[in-house]
Amino acid sequence: MSKASEVIIVGAGVGGLTLALSLHQAGIPCRIFEAVPELRPLGVGINLMPHAARELAELGLSERLDQVGVKAQESVFFNSHGQLIYREPAGTGLGYPWPQYSIHRGDLQTVLLEAVHERLGDDAVQCGHRCVGATQNEDYVTVSFTSPSGQPLEPVTGRIVVACDGIHSSLRKQLYPAEGAPRYSGVNMWRGTAYWDPILTGASMIRAGWLSVGKMVIYPIRNARDGSGKQLINWVAELESPRPAERDWGRVGRLEDFLPAFESWKFDWLDVPALIRASESVLEYPMCDQDPLPTWTHGRLTLLGDAAHPMVPRGSNGAGQAVLDARVLAGLLKKEGLGPMALQKYDRERVAATTRVVLTNRSNPPDAILREVHERSQGKPFARIDDVISQSELREIAENYRRVAGFDAATLGTRPSYV
Ligand SMILES: Cc1cc2nc3c(=O)[nH]c(=O)nc-3n(C[C@H](O)[C@H](O)[C@H](O)COP(=O)(O)OP(=O)(O)OC[C@H]3O[C@@H](n4cnc5c(N)ncnc54)[C@H](O)[C@@H]3O)c2cc1C
Repeated sequence: MSKASEVIIVGAGVGGLTLALSLHQAGIPCRIFEAVPELRPLGVGINLMPHAARELAELGLSERLDQVGVKAQESVFFNSHGQLIYREPAGTGLGYPWPQYSIHRGDLQTVLLEAVHERLGDDAVQCGHRCVGATQNEDYVTVSFTSPSGQPLEPVTGRIVVACDGIHSSLRKQLYPAEGAPRYSGVNMWRGTAYWDPILTGASMIRAGWLSVGKMVIYPIRNARDGSGKQLINWVAELESPRPAERDWGRVGRLEDFLPAFESWKFDWLDVPALIRASESVLEYPMCDQDPLPTWTHGRLTLLGDAAHPMVPRGSNGAGQAVLDARVLAGLLKKEGLGPMALQKYDRERVAATTRVVLTNRSNPPDAILREVHERSQGKPFARIDDVISQSELREIAENYRRVAGFDAATLGTRPSYV
């Protein structure tokens, strides 16, 4: 076993890879240990809001993200009858220098992984290493791994270990062995992608309906790359359901479990059931989170991203908050050195910030706009939206969320760089 002076990162998802690039930028050596034998571009769409786009820009990744993602132009809300409720600009349209990217999770992971390989070398990511626990003394932390077939591998020693190993984090379980099951919000989600003609502006993030009758989130994640002009469109159908699906990102869903709720959604701006039927496959995932933890840090070990703060995906902030965690942590390790002090400062800053996001995602995320209209109009079509709710009230819901999540123009435009 060799005693190294590096940071050990567990998990090569969005959080782990961003942390590796940020540590490299800060001049701190690190290695990533990833459970799967080979990283494949899995998942469907995610959004990176301008606060995360700023961090990736400071890592020099804007050009690559511009090539693979879609820069959202607007955020637009409809009721379940297809009537327009509210529309506002997104990303640079809101006055930020940084865009909002709508992007395939696999494309984002690939951009990050390629940059890691280029900057840190090909052996910076060690696949086939499933973390099963960590021990530490005053100076070092030692992490144990097994191979994909379950055989123990040589343990690895470093100065710090950061668990970026997602919703089933092994090191979170080690820190909190008695933690309860995930908190199910009573809503299941079905997700898919289809090649389709551009919808609305061709860069619109659409939210429609409400959870009790069926809600959709729809946005393009890849621009047309061939002569057909079709974009890759990501959709998420959300429906109240007493039974939570298994918390597995790869679980296949069935059309008959949700499509009936959307059969009548044939609007002049989109035929929703046709879009769903055009999708190659459907994934099912429960909308659940976990109660915020009081602390993520134990000595030389800490948590980051979904391992630290799984949240319900109602504010497009899961990946973004993982990116922010990574940047704040790298900045503090650079400033304070590779010891527990940096981790404690990281803990103080990021536990508080992400707790606010986790709790606001439960109660008042941007799609609360849809809830307000659904409840006030009792789910019926309206003659004029202003008779139901004012545009200024709708704007305030959206702005409140930006403040909570840290991408309101005042905060984002003025805060110094983390690294
Ligand atoms: C396969 C997959 C598909 C996803 N699809 C979507 C999606 O479609 N939409 C969406 O909103 N979010 C999706 N997510 C989650 C999304 O990526 C995260 O919410 C967000 O980006 C925060 O990233 P993270 O790095 O904290 O976690 P993740 O992106 O989940 O990354 C965690 C990484 O850790 C690895 N890992 C897990 N356990 C161990 C272990 N014991 N030892 C070593 N490595 C381990 C995982 O293989 C993974 O690479 C997906 C995640 C995964 C893993």
